[in-house]
Amino acid sequence: MNRARKHTPSQLIIIYITFCVVVLMTVTLSLNRFLQRSMSTQTNNILSLMAEKVNTSFGMMVNYVTEAAEIISADKHCNLADRYEQLQRATASMPYTSVGLIDDNGTVYGSDGEKLDMEKQGFIKTVSDKDTIYISEPYRSSVTGSNMIAVFAPLYNNGQKIGSLYAIYYLETIQNLAYTNILSDRTAVFLMNPYSGNYVNCSEADNNSPGTWSNVRLIKNEIKALNGYNYDDWIKSMRTGGGNNLVNFSFGDKSYTQAYTEITGMHNWYIVIRIPLAELSDTMHKYTLGVIIGAAALILATILLAIYLYSGEHRQKETLRDLSNHDPLTKILNRRAFDSCITKLFDKSKKNESCIFMFFDIDYFKSVNDNYGHDAGDQVLCATAEALTEAFGDNGIAARIGGDEFNVFIYNSLTVANVDDILANLRMRLKNLKLEDGTLLPVSFSAGLSMCPQDTDDLKILKENADKALYRVKETGRNNHIWYHDIN
Ligand code: GH3
Ligand code: MG
Repeated sequence: MNRARKHTPSQLIIIYITFCVVVLMTVTLSLNRFLQRSMSTQTNNILSLMAEKVNTSFGMMVNYVTEAAEIISADKHCNLADRYEQLQRATASMPYTSVGLIDDNGTVYGSDGEKLDMEKQGFIKTVSDKDTIYISEPYRSSVTGSNMIAVFAPLYNNGQKIGSLYAIYYLETIQNLAYTNILSDRTAVFLMNPYSGNYVNCSEADNNSPGTWSNVRLIKNEIKALNGYNYDDWIKSMRTGGGNNLVNFSFGDKSYTQAYTEITGMHNWYIVIRIPLAELSDTMHKYTLGVIIGAAALILATILLAIYLYSGEHRQKETLRDLSNHDPLTKILNRRAFDSCITKLFDKSKKNESCIFMFFDIDYFKSVNDNYGHDAGDQVLCATAEALTEAFGDNGIAARIGGDEFNVFIYNSLTVANVDDILANLRMRLKNLKLEDGTLLPVSFSAGLSMCPQDTDDLKILKENADKALYRVKETGRNNHIWYHDIN
């Protein structure tokens, strides 16, 4: 089976950071897309809400006019001049500005200003052959200069059309209905005719005051398409019904998103809302900055945590390794660690140097325990371990292999004479051993030694030789050391 390749902690941290960066970038991108989508959804929601309000107010206008026309049509002895007088009284509380009649000869029963407008706007001719409700385009009153809309309903007598009833509304009334305070003051609302290019500003979102007329041809040169969807195509889609109802464009130094929807009562006219894209990008910039700071803090915190955990784990491992390799009492190597250590050292030193193995045992150690106590015995063991380690220094490695037994592996090609000297000094040192309480406790030891390659070049045999030599010392009275080559 293929084993997975292990990574170093720094590789893991790099992989982790890369992963974090990829995740954050993906999140930011999809959030951006989500915000863009929700922005157009929001735009369309506001649009539907306002379209509904405009359409409702048109419905109300049509209802009033239809009702009035029906009442007049129901009177079989209809005299339009008298009816006009009655209408003026009956409709004083109605929401329209004024109401009037046109008979089938084209005579207008209305104010002088209305008579002028009916003629000028061509309404008399337009409605003469209309037998359904007709809503005019917005027009400017020749008397007051205000923007108006006229709604016409046919009048009948015994099933015969005898003229039309009209009601005139201020466009402002519709604008006020369309405008709603849930819109931020940066959202603009227009009524637009894609055929003439005329549009009326309904809200105070920009410097134009409500009711201002303009035409897209006047501003078209300053409009620059964003996202490749042309403003002309957007207007064309208003006329043909296909395409996207939402366009993004820049005008002057600002960018906007703009959408339209139909007004059911008002043929060829559309309601348009315009929202600055800055609102979206502001949110996006704030979010992106937040994400970058947050991500940097997160990555930094993770790295610190990783370093902390790694170093903690490393320290713990060191401590455990230390504990498992060393004798808890004397702190020098234990048998297991010593064995694995000298196997490597032996293989290395065998090639070009000589080396020596020594078995070491304290004489009559049992009686130290018996006469001075176990604690004193422990102190002797520690002092011996220290003295052995110091005696051989960089030339050897010492270990406690159990009880009062020690092993030393001597490398660096020390001669027999060198080792004899070292052991003589060691003997002197231990002979004058003082316990912690100042008690003098002379210690003697026995040791057996074997040399490689003189005695053997096999580590196992080298150890056995040293053990045999030690045995010989014990047999022959202790407090001495013997070389293996001397016992043969
Ligand atoms: P010999 O000269 O033949 O070596 O005689 P000895 O008394 O030293 O006998 P031996 O080496 O067999 O005795 C080892 C004793 O060491 C036996 C045991 O009670 C004691 N000992 C083993 N481990 C410890 C230890 O950790 N602390 C102490 N204080 N004594 C220990
Ligand atoms: Mg002993």
